[in-house]
Amino acid sequence: MKEEHRLLIALQDLDIMIKEAKDTSTSKELESMGFKLTGLNELQEARKKLASKIPPALLQRYEKLAKHYRMGILPVTGDLCLGCFVKLPTSFFSAAHSHELLVCENCGRMLYIP
Ligand SMILES: [Zn+2]
Repeated sequence: MKEEHRLLIALQDLDIMIKEAKDTSTSKELESMGFKLTGLNELQEARKKLASKIPPALLQRYEKLAKHYRMGILPVTGDLCLGCFVKLPTSFFSAAHSHELLVCENCGRMLYIP
């Protein structure tokens, strides 16, 4: 897998953590567990740093998808897109070996072979 794809997946993990930290019920739970909400600033700071290492075109594509879906980039399991559970064509997998990110034709999410 390309480094920029690894970074993008890490960015998505951060985005999910930030969303959860912003969620009031989650943040209350986190507080009761002893986490301070200042962690949110640190998460956002880490996201900024990570985002600056990702090529802008790729980042934009991800941001667009992340607005629509919780996960803009997903692993392929078996021969299914984990976003919409549509079976992927065989041609898909030969393209996957070129180490490019793939796009599900059905839902448009970015896919990678883990
Ligand atoms: Zn899909």
